[in-house]
Amino acid sequence: TPDLRGKHVTVAGLGVSGISAARALRRMGAHVTVVDGGDSDTHRARAAELAAEDVTVRLADAETLPQGTELIVTSPGWKPQSPLFTAAGAAGVPVWGDVELAWRLRGAAPARADSGGSGARPGPAPWLAVTGTNGKTTTVQMLASILGAAGLRAPAVGNIGTPLIDVVLAEDPPDVLAVELSSYQLHWAPSLRAHSAAVLNLAPDHLDWHGSMDAYAADKGRIYEGNRVACVYNRADPATEALVRAADVVEGCRAIGFTLGTPGPSELGVVDGVLVDRAFVENRREQAQELAEVSDITPAAPHNIANALAAAALARAYGVPAAAVRDGLRAFRPDAHRIAHVADVGGVAYVDDSKATNTHATQASLAAYDPIVWIAGGLAKGATFDDLVRESAERLRGAVLIGADRHLIHEALTRHAPDVPVVDVARTDTGAMAAAVHEAAQLARPGDTVLMAPACASMDMFVNYNARGDAFTDAVRALAAAGAHEV
Ligand code: ADP
Repeated sequence: TPDLRGKHVTVAGLGVSGISAARALRRMGAHVTVVDGGDSDTHRARAAELAAEDVTVRLADAETLPQGTELIVTSPGWKPQSPLFTAAGAAGVPVWGDVELAWRLRGAAPARADSGGSGARPGPAPWLAVTGTNGKTTTVQMLASILGAAGLRAPAVGNIGTPLIDVVLAEDPPDVLAVELSSYQLHWAPSLRAHSAAVLNLAPDHLDWHGSMDAYAADKGRIYEGNRVACVYNRADPATEALVRAADVVEGCRAIGFTLGTPGPSELGVVDGVLVDRAFVENRREQAQELAEVSDITPAAPHNIANALAAAALARAYGVPAAAVRDGLRAFRPDAHRIAHVADVGGVAYVDDSKATNTHATQASLAAYDPIVWIAGGLAKGATFDDLVRESAERLRGAVLIGADRHLIHEALTRHAPDVPVVDVARTDTGAMAAAVHEAAQLARPGDTVLMAPACASMDMFVNYNARGDAFTDAVRALAAAGAHEV
């Protein structure tokens, strides 16, 4: 545990993670200054609160390095190119992310009582870490559910729930952590060494932040560095396996693949609708260990089975028995707006996948249904839609487009799916969603699925993807109510 007493630490960002970092650093006896470019009422209220706790806050300037800074602790969103970090580099001041801080301070947590759970031992709780372009939150929640079914105290943390630093320093620390890590967080977490880690998949995203696909992949790959027990990769995504090969791990650490097909040795996979583990076999006379049925997973869409296999691999690496994997997967329910079945109206299923904010995620949900009336559009964030449309064209009954960048999707549809009817709602206000649902209902036939998986960010029309999903849900409920009325 580093000695931060008397150190001058600058925290970049007055958000949730910045505030918890500032408080933790104060507790460690550091002199803390928080800097933030904003200067709103919210900023000032937060600043006043922290000032009462002996934390200095500087608003309206995110660029200049406060004098005497010996360490920067940054919030995940800050770009590496930020002038503050350039100044830090020139001055030889190290930069830690919130994850790096939590990792370094984990030894400062009160000692754990031995929980008696499998693999548990006193000392800081080990980390089971998950990253990937899509599926992170779902996978760590599945993992936490599995670990919970094994009787372990294991919260899902990282990008979700309680800030990591608060969990790490809690009076009553968990047995093991199921940690979701973004590429941003990994970028700033050079000394993190997980018990085991998984990269679920790799597709272009956030390239504006990282600068290039290579830099993005390299940051994701950091999650494997120094792993002790297992590096879990996706056999269908060779880029993830390449990251395992490039990583420097502890001797004896195993590379474990997961696949939707038949597993090889050292893999988890699926055989006749059963999740099977050939990597961590309990009975040495057997070749494989059955874990759960595919039907234990909600929703049992292919990408979600992949998430379940990754979660199971990490749990098994930690020594969790097969029965707990099954119980944990059965108990798991996805968060809202992730391929959520809203209602059946007139024989048509309506599915909310508002969280599909990029083409890779949308690809996964389009692959899960047939035929589809697809509602899409929003902010494209520099994405192209040709591959997505080409691969899904055969399953599309029709498409309904909303949002600022809808013309990009329309052009791709014209190029690769010229026979698919397209309705351009031509709206970018919040009412666009109700109009889109109305149009989709006209296109759909019984047995179809109306799938709202926009492949775009929501901020042109909505506060966030939750609000977009709620607008869809409301519109579908109204449609169902109107239908009931007609009958
Ligand atoms: P993240 O935390 O990485 O954003 P989520 O679990 O919140 O991931 O899922 C985000 C979206 O990505 C979901 O709406 C779903 O459509 C899609 N998705 C989930 N898992 C996968 C996967 N393994 N591969 C591709 N897409 C996925």
